[in-house]
Amino acid sequence: MPHEFLKCPHCTHAQAIDPALSRLPFTCDQCDRQSSLGAWRNPATSREYMAISQETSVAFTEELHGHTLAYTILADGEGVGTGTVVSIGEHVLVATTRHTLPAYLKSKGKDGEIGLIAKDRIVTGDRSRWLIRHESDTYHDLGLFEISHDAIHELNLQPIGIDRLHDACNGHPLCKVRVIGYPKEYRKDHFPQQGMRGFRAFSYGTEILDLEAWNSLYVENLYSNEHVVLNYDQNDNIDWLGDHVVESPAPHPGGMSGGGIWQAVSPLDDKHIWTVDRLRLIAVQCGWYAKYSVLKGTQVIYWLKLVTETYRHLRDELEATFPRLKTLS
Ligand SMILES: [Zn+2]
Repeated sequence: MPHEFLKCPHCTHAQAIDPALSRLPFTCDQCDRQSSLGAWRNPATSREYMAISQETSVAFTEELHGHTLAYTILADGEGVGTGTVVSIGEHVLVATTRHTLPAYLKSKGKDGEIGLIAKDRIVTGDRSRWLIRHESDTYHDLGLFEISHDAIHELNLQPIGIDRLHDACNGHPLCKVRVIGYPKEYRKDHFPQQGMRGFRAFSYGTEILDLEAWNSLYVENLYSNEHVVLNYDQNDNIDWLGDHVVESPAPHPGGMSGGGIWQAVSPLDDKHIWTVDRLRLIAVQCGWYAKYSVLKGTQVIYWLKLVTETYRHLRDELEATFPRLKTLS
């Protein structure tokens, strides 16, 4: 592939950069500092974004936290998965992955009591209290379950509307991307309920991996019309929200599967005021490849496809808003 001639975001020294290597940070020949491909390509936005993100990473986390839940089988206290709460028509749906759904929601499997966890709250008890319907898509590793309005109220969650979903295909290469989930590593005893192990949410700001760099990944079933790939470096220092903001290495992403991948529709410029609701749900996180330090997600359009197949009466509205739905077989 042809190299791009780009300027260092720190010292503006120009040099050739090969986007096919975009999993790596690129070192400046002049000042020796390392920057990601996104920062080389868009140094002004990246500087602005850095300043903003330091102030607002907590605001981002808080905002996404309000739309995100974890679900877990209470008997073994293991993390099962993360999901995003989306309100479509009169239904409150959770967008998640199939592989994280409890066995009995996928087929006939062992039953068990599920807890829904959000922030400092939990909903437990007979699932007929909160579970209305569930469906999954094996091929795309997507799951959905419909939960009651009462459960949402108890959890104090704010479902997003379809205006917060965006069919971004592989994602915008110049916009920061954020992934949120409930990593197993962040389990905490007796939280949010005495006698159980709870979870804390984690949100991570990173960059979309350039399509050209996909060739260097040996990842099964990775398709440009179905997935997004993000850099996820466990050596990264991250800020996370506990009783106060703490800096630590990024967690093992186990348990974060099903979590939302969020991105703004366009890079921030001087004309627009930054607000947390700029972020749109573009994909559902479904895989981690430690060898390459990347996460994989399925584009949200395939989850919407599952919604239209499950709730036929929503199809016209969704197809009008997301035209690509009509083209998916
Ligand atoms: Zn430099």
